[in-house]
Amino acid sequence: MARRPRARAAPSRNPRRTLLLLLLGVLLLIAALLLHRLEIGRRPPPPETGRLTVVALDVGQGDSFLILTPERKAVLIDAGPPEAADRVREALARYGVTQLDLVIATHPHADHIGGMTAVLDAVPVRMFLDSGQPHPTRTYTRMLEKIREKGIRFAVAEAGQEFEIGTGVTLSILAPFPTRLQGTRSDENANSIVVRLEYDAFSMLFTGDSERETEERLLEQDGTTAPLQARVLKVAHHGSRHSTTRAFLERVRPEVAIISCGAENEYGHPAPETLNRLRRWVRELHRTDLEGEIVLRTDGHRYEIHTERAVAAEDLWRGRRPRFRAEEPSPWAPRNGRAGSPLPMESSRQAPRASPRENVLR
Ligand SMILES: [Zn+2]
Ligand SMILES: [Zn+2]
Repeated sequence: MARRPRARAAPSRNPRRTLLLLLLGVLLLIAALLLHRLEIGRRPPPPETGRLTVVALDVGQGDSFLILTPERKAVLIDAGPPEAADRVREALARYGVTQLDLVIATHPHADHIGGMTAVLDAVPVRMFLDSGQPHPTRTYTRMLEKIREKGIRFAVAEAGQEFEIGTGVTLSILAPFPTRLQGTRSDENANSIVVRLEYDAFSMLFTGDSERETEERLLEQDGTTAPLQARVLKVAHHGSRHSTTRAFLERVRPEVAIISCGAENEYGHPAPETLNRLRRWVRELHRTDLEGEIVLRTDGHRYEIHTERAVAAEDLWRGRRPRFRAEEPSPWAPRNGRAGSPLPMESSRQAPRASPRENVLR
């Protein structure tokens, strides 16, 4: 239409007729919009038009994922480390999120809930889902206080729960289990909330900082709640070598893997061993430490992924090594941590009191 300059050069000879036609057009448009709204209210949105978005926010060493449903409902899984609080709030504003329908804290480590209090202050939250693990750190207690102060509905997650996020989008809770895992490398990690997102034929598995024991239990219980199989996998524990076992991958059968970790992390995330295991399954790997923010969009069948920066595949598949040996105490470990604790930087089980540095630990 814009290619026809003649229409501009020759205005209608009957302005009243033009006005009437214009009015009729507007009325028809309003009627069409009203009918469309009724239609949407009655049936799930057709997959051709309804698109679901999953964003892996670039929060450095930590996790934060934003899910936006076709009906613009919003879910936040984790809020990154404390220093990423502004980044998370900025992203919520950028994606037009004025309310979070559900917020999930996979587990109480600071690299997952560090930015949470700031998020709770920034936007109204309808429901908060926590892993329910006692964790006496300042970050965690402050977060719980904020939830109470704001009067947010609070629930503890357990395998078998299901959340319908608007029409056609389901979040199934696969872990933690009714009997919590104990005696693992980090029980906080092992009892992470594991969530499976499903939208039509699209599925994605969010694993928090799951440990090997979590994966074993998930395999045992596969089929009792939602299936483990997922087309996209949020790789557990920032790509740590202790998770993402071969048996687990065989069951999940992911097409794409997404790793959230920091560019300068001293833990050696992601581990080359984990990447090797993943390589046998996934055709595409994405990493926030190299590519920045990762955006996945799906119509419920096909999906596409865009990243902030373009990175060559061979660089994506190159893992990191820890900067110090696991046996040596980390320079970031709490001073009052029990001497000889096997991995002081991985677990805060040994540190009942919050040290001033606990915020930067996990
Ligand atoms: Zn973590
Ligand atoms: Zn953790």
